[in-house]
Amino acid sequence: MSRFVCDVCGKEIAVHEGILTWARDEETLSNFMLTHQNSPERKCQPKENNRYKDLYTLTMINGYMEFINYLVDRWESGFYLKDVESLKKVLEQLNLHMHEKLILLTEDE
Ligand SMILES: [Zn+2]
Repeated sequence: MSRFVCDVCGKEIAVHEGILTWARDEETLSNFMLTHQNSPERKCQPKENNRYKDLYTLTMINGYMEFINYLVDRWESGFYLKDVESLKKVLEQLNLHMHEKLILLTEDE
């Protein structure tokens, strides 16, 4: 199974300990980062980011679609993306995970 890698410390993230955060101001969404959730041992969440979604939720099809809908709704309201690459990197990790999950499901039949 593919592994999630923390954008801050570079170590593996278990699905239950990951979080996607980003910064939203009046007209932009930026700095998408997939990291470990803050805990007594780790402080990977970027302080400047003011929006978040649990990685666990994002790995579920409905949670993933909810996030895509959130982005589409923001774009409709005139928001724009400041650094597309950060979002692309996060989506790549998610897509690989979902893809492998689907393969596992179909192999069972
Ligand atoms: Zn980390």
